[in-house]
This record gives sequence, C-alpha cells and structure tokens, in this order.
Amino acid sequence: MTETNLNLNENTSGRYGEYGGQYIPETLMNELDRMAKAYDHYKNDPEFKTELHDLLVDYANRPSLLYYAERMTKDLGGAQIYLKREDLNHTGAHKINNVIGQALLAKHMGKTRLIAETGAGQHGVATATIAAYFGMECEVFMGKEDTDRQKLNVYRMELLGAKVHPVTSGSMVLKDAINAALQDWTKRVDDTFYCMGSATGPHPYPLMVRDFQSIISQESKAQLQEKTGQLPDMVVACVGGGSNAIGSFANYIDDPSVQLVGAEAAGKGVETNLTAATVERGSDGIFHGMKSMFLQNKTGQINPVYSISAGLDYPGVGPEHAYLAKTGRAQYVGITDDEAVAAFEYIAKTEGIVAAIESCHAVAYVQKIAPKMRKDQIIVCTLSGRGDKDVASIAKYKGVDIDE
Ligand SMILES: *Cc1c(COP(=O)(O)O)cnc(C)c1O
Repeated sequence: MTETNLNLNENTSGRYGEYGGQYIPETLMNELDRMAKAYDHYKNDPEFKTELHDLLVDYANRPSLLYYAERMTKDLGGAQIYLKREDLNHTGAHKINNVIGQALLAKHMGKTRLIAETGAGQHGVATATIAAYFGMECEVFMGKEDTDRQKLNVYRMELLGAKVHPVTSGSMVLKDAINAALQDWTKRVDDTFYCMGSATGPHPYPLMVRDFQSIISQESKAQLQEKTGQLPDMVVACVGGGSNAIGSFANYIDDPSVQLVGAEAAGKGVETNLTAATVERGSDGIFHGMKSMFLQNKTGQINPVYSISAGLDYPGVGPEHAYLAKTGRAQYVGITDDEAVAAFEYIAKTEGIVAAIESCHAVAYVQKIAPKMRKDQIIVCTLSGRGDKDVASIAKYKGVDIDE
C-alpha cells in the first residue's frame, strides 16, 4: 500500500461553493485555526505520513479488499459489482481511518485528551479504541436516549477506558451530544482535541475527515485498475454525515465518467416525516458550525430525524456533499428501511456477507441500478461496516423474537 495522498484538493479555504465555513464561538475559532494550520503542516510532513501509513496497515488492517461480487453480479444480470470491504477493518467499519488520522494529529499538537460525540456509539467506540492505543484520556458525549438504547456500546467504550457522559439536553440524541461536546471543548481547549465523527462541522473537519477517508477511493481506484484496467462507471456509498461516501468519492471527483451516488436513509419514505434524507428533503442552513443542508422547519429549527439505521440518522450532511449535490456532480437517492432490510438479507444470502444496515442502503441502490446497466459496466459499492451489531434489531424488525 502506498501512502495516503492528503493533498487531493488545492482548495484549503474550508468553502465548497457557498457551503462549509466556520460558524462557531470565538473561543473555538482560535483553536480551529491552530488545528487547520497544524493539519496543513503535518499532512506534508514525511514522519507524520509514515506514522499514519503504518497505523493504517498494522493496526487497522489496510488495504481493505476490493471484492468482486460474482454472485450478486450474475443474479442481478447487469453491471459488474465490486464491494470495497471497509467492514474488514479493525473495529469493523470505516470510522477507524478517520480517528487514526485525527488522534495522530492531536498527539502531534501536544493534546492528551480526546473528546467525541456519538449517536449509536460507533464513533465513540472508534475514538475510545484509538485513545487506548495512544494512551490518551477519552470522554464521549452521547444522548441519554442513545445510552439507554445502546447499552452494549456504552459498556464497550468503558471497557476501552473511556468515560461516557449521557447528555440530557434537547431531545437527548446525537445533535445534542455534538452540542455538549463543543461546549466541553470550549472549556478545555488547552489539552483537548475534539475528534469529529463525520465529514461535518466547522473547517477544517470536513477537509481533514475527507482526506483521512480518501484512502478508500485511493485504494479502490488502484485495485480496480489492477483487476480490470478500468475506472468504475459508478461509485455508490451510504451517507449519514457523509464520511465514508466522501472518502469513496474523493479520488474520482475529477473523473467525469465516474458517476457518484450517495444513498441516504429515507426511513419510512422520503415524502414522510420519518426520514433522514437530508439532500432530498432538506434546505440550506447553518448548524453545528457549518453552512450545509439540513432537515429543518421554516424557522430553521432542526427536525427530528428517523431511520432504522442509527448511523444514518443525522439531520444534516457534510458541506462537500451539499456542494456536490448542488453542482450535480453527485446524485443522492433515498433508500427506505424496508429496502435496506431486504438488501441486508439479500447480500447475506447471495454473498455470505452480513453488512451493516447503513451499508445496505448502498447495496439496495445497487440492486436497483445494476440490472439497468450494461454487463461491461462496473459499479464499486462501499460496504462501510459489518452487520453483527444489527442482527438483533433486524430480527426484531422482521418480527422474530430472539433472546439477546
Ligand atoms: C457511522 C457509520 C456510517 C455513517 O457515517 P458517514 O459519516 O456518513 O460515513 C455508515 N456506515 C457505518 C458502518 C457507520 O458506522
């Protein structure tokens, strides 16, 4: 594996057209500036890049496989389907790529304490993991609703040495956890690094997280080249805040022949209020330090969101996705709970892979589009994570009662 190219985009302004920016209290502005400068320095520092590379290889188990899904391809009868297997990474998802990068930057900035927000607990677990590895203090903010729903992940974070703070403000979910983490950071910028979970928030987070996740498309491009000598015709990934998707797209954005598709969580349907399809249903706004697209009411109050998939129910999307959507470079499609669950069963039965319910939103889109494409065309679909965590809740969704 070659080193991660952290210089994908000359644009380091933190703006993606009108989106992005830094909408944040003064106290954090200085710290974000320090972080942006540090990142700009270290991303070109050979020692930093070697350390990052070694961690990705030796700790995270990269490169991840680019797997030819021959059975799915035959069954669907159209485009050739390749799966980028982020589910095979240490900790079972793409999130490790990002936390390794941010924790390494934190270490080089002299920080000794990592804080993070988490919804279902996946980013919290990833942050706790890397904090344990680096011997850093770790505190995770998690909505009280979520700590009650995800007791196993709370225990897992504690096992890894992190302290979990149940957040009781607002609706006690992910967006409130982010607010609480930002508040904590305001009080303790000196020794603390806020490790952001997706390609969201104020600059430089969307840029850094995109760069750290871009290893996904850097590898997939080289791997597909080696296997077929071609570029894919389409890249598909699921979108919550958008980190695995932007990492899956990054090295193809300048290849106009490659269609980029983000699968959003439509929940009970894009047209219903039980949805998390931000690009299709949302509007421009400012929240969590960035200008982007959000699910909000007319006065700019953030709406509650819903999806069967805990990792996709964020009421916004990273600013680069808002820009890719606005300019038409990428398309965003809503996939319902029912479609994602059907894909969860389909990929298990055809390929013998239990994929995360988040990732199955992307798989569901592949099921729809592949039969309409020619047999010489190629789709690369990112499997962002493994699905062991989802088995019990999918069983319940299907009306099967299992003792956990
Ligand atoms: C967190 C998570 C997601 C959603 O986050 P993005 O930032 O949109 O990638 C998707 N899949 C899995 C497996 C996750 O853990």
